[in-house]
Amino acid sequence: MTTPGQQPERTGSRSLDPHLRRYAARAGGMTASEVRALFAVASRPEVVSLAGGMPNLAALPLESLSEQVGRIIAEEGLTALQYGSAHGVPLLREQICEVMALEGISGHPDDLVVTVGSQMALDLVTRIFCDPGDIVLAEGPSYVGALGTFASYQAEVRHVVMDADGLVPEALRAALDAAKQAGRRVKFLYTIPNFNNPAGVTMAVARRAEVLDICAAHDVLVVEDNPYGLLGFDGQVYPALRSMDRDNVIYLGSFSKTFASGLRVGWALAPHAVREKLVLAAESAALCAPTLNQMVVSRYLATHDWKGQIKSFQTMYRERRDALISGLEQHMPAGCSWTNPDGGFFVWMTVPEGVDTKAMQPRAVTARVAYVPGTGFYADGFGSRQMRLSFCYPPPERISEGVRRLAGVLAQEIDL
Ligand code: PMP
Repeated sequence: MTTPGQQPERTGSRSLDPHLRRYAARAGGMTASEVRALFAVASRPEVVSLAGGMPNLAALPLESLSEQVGRIIAEEGLTALQYGSAHGVPLLREQICEVMALEGISGHPDDLVVTVGSQMALDLVTRIFCDPGDIVLAEGPSYVGALGTFASYQAEVRHVVMDADGLVPEALRAALDAAKQAGRRVKFLYTIPNFNNPAGVTMAVARRAEVLDICAAHDVLVVEDNPYGLLGFDGQVYPALRSMDRDNVIYLGSFSKTFASGLRVGWALAPHAVREKLVLAAESAALCAPTLNQMVVSRYLATHDWKGQIKSFQTMYRERRDALISGLEQHMPAGCSWTNPDGGFFVWMTVPEGVDTKAMQPRAVTARVAYVPGTGFYADGFGSRQMRLSFCYPPPERISEGVRRLAGVLAQEIDL
């Protein structure tokens, strides 16, 4: 009830939502992610945000890009501003195959569908494979956006533990056996093998064939999500799972981290029959990915030194990783441990027993530093002693300052 002059209350709480009884059951799985909820506080200028995962675009050649965009409109405007096929712009699909070749993948443009970021590819894959109650296996912890997608299709996520070498094959085998014994269907394993978001670890190359063999033996697909694969800090590139198994792996890629996240251009490479279903699903979701954006990416790949640009991203992120790790080594109280990523954007930290990272978060924000509590990266409530620290966005000196502040908050928390 509102009195005259009073604003109706916003429906932040579900019980205040007058449409509650109308929603489909699947909408129940759609809840605000902790990461997104944090963006508002974390973006205040006085707060050092180790929370967000926004790529740092400052190094992009904006002037020449703007010239190229102008040229696309002038020279090919009627195509660029028109609907395109749901498969994606043909030239871009060929170029994407060249990008994937860097990871040992020999893909055919006809096995590709271009999507609105790899997030849409995740949605399409889940849409075509998952019925309510199907099981999806995912690393623990896993990407919050993927967990949200799985929940929105009412799939049940079972986590598989990782160690410093990524997903543990024995744990994968055990999870698959347990599901089989319970008579449950596992639809796919979702994995981020390189520079995992949020864990910052990479699946050891020696493990990859074993993981693929285990999944194939259980007749379970692998969804390989690889937005960070080209961001190894020493230029190292690991062979994609897809390069080792073309029949059982759906590979998801993205230009968000290697070029421009705002263009929202990603893709899925899938076994041919699956790709046909993905195209149909893409048509019903969006008709097609934006033609202009696809052409911008295509021109960029054709006219810019994109490999050189990726190298400069690697250097920039390496400096930031170094600032974060050396800050942690210098300042963190005893009992904290963290991963040491050799690529990507994220470090995963475990804090001493008794500290709850979610409960601590408001005190960290008061101390002007933000991180993401670990529980958001699990579907099962685990992660209360973990947090994700991202080093992609703030400059190194701000990262160092942020770590100092965070260490102060943690030290107080431990003393409590
Ligand atoms: N997968 C992972 C592991 C990610 O970290 C992200 C973005 N943070 C995505 C998928 C989605 O990326 P995009 O839609 O921008 O391609």
